[in-house]
Amino acid sequence: MNVRRIFEAVVTWFDSSQFDKSKIEANPDGIDWVRVIPYILMHVACLLVLVVGFSWVALWVAVFLYGLRVFTLTAFYHRYFSHRGFKANRFWQFVFALIGTMAVQRGPLWWAAHHRLHHKYSDQPEDVHSPKQYGFWWSHTFWFLANKNFPTHYERVQDWMKFPELVWLDRFDMLPPVLLAITLFSIGQLLAAFAPGLHTNGWQLLVWGFFISTIAVYHVTFCINSLAHVIGRRRYRTTDTSRNNWLLALFAFGEGWHNNHHYYPSAARQGFFWWEFDISYYVLVILSKFKIVSELRQVPAEVRASNRIADEDQSTSEEEPRLQPDTQLE
Ligand SMILES: [Zn+2]
Ligand SMILES: [Zn+2]
Repeated sequence: MNVRRIFEAVVTWFDSSQFDKSKIEANPDGIDWVRVIPYILMHVACLLVLVVGFSWVALWVAVFLYGLRVFTLTAFYHRYFSHRGFKANRFWQFVFALIGTMAVQRGPLWWAAHHRLHHKYSDQPEDVHSPKQYGFWWSHTFWFLANKNFPTHYERVQDWMKFPELVWLDRFDMLPPVLLAITLFSIGQLLAAFAPGLHTNGWQLLVWGFFISTIAVYHVTFCINSLAHVIGRRRYRTTDTSRNNWLLALFAFGEGWHNNHHYYPSAARQGFFWWEFDISYYVLVILSKFKIVSELRQVPAEVRASNRIADEDQSTSEEEPRLQPDTQLE
């Protein structure tokens, strides 16, 4: 590998507008391993926990950043940018888009564009991450490493293109995560110098707060694409294999009620009944009290009660019509 190749790879890590069209055309399903080196290294870096050790401060930083980023992905990347399930002003929309990029799952426009494709073609060949079509591992992780899924489909997010700050953030989506990592390291070093009783340091906060926390966020959110189409119960007739799974709903802050969501995607909530806990929705309700978000879209009672699948029939019932979401913006 020559210097030029290395330089080009580093550019693609930081500027997502840089990609090789001929490579996509020649091998759309192929994986450009050089480009995905950072993703692999993020996993390997978790092993450094054996070197940096444990402290309660590091654990709580990891838990806090897990919660903040899972909420932001589910409430904003998913329910707001992909489905427009509620409203937010331009300032808060950008703030949460920025926090969302810190989950290292690309920018809000890339994320929303691919997610809209998933709903439009759920579990059909055009679905970018269908476990029914392509198996568990493709739907869990390989789909977004594939050459063809690297570019942002701007034509699918025309409604957001009028905000140049979002387009810019989507292009340079790797900058906020790098800043987060540097900030965590710096805070850890300051704590080591000025609060030695906390028994932490920069390397420890970097490993726990950035690497371990991000990998946990990764695989919980990826499970919605993979496991939530495989394991769980189906309440509504939809043309896909989406399922409701309480364990995923717990860790993914409500996103595990995935059959509910495919049935009525434009709602701000995915738990349709009081016992279906939906942490992201509860936080959105609190944020609405502070006027940070508004007009949380609800599920009409008649929609909630219709097209139910009897408990004894958990097949996918593909012949049944699917309720067409009205905010797919296709
Ligand atoms: Zn789905
Ligand atoms: Zn969705």
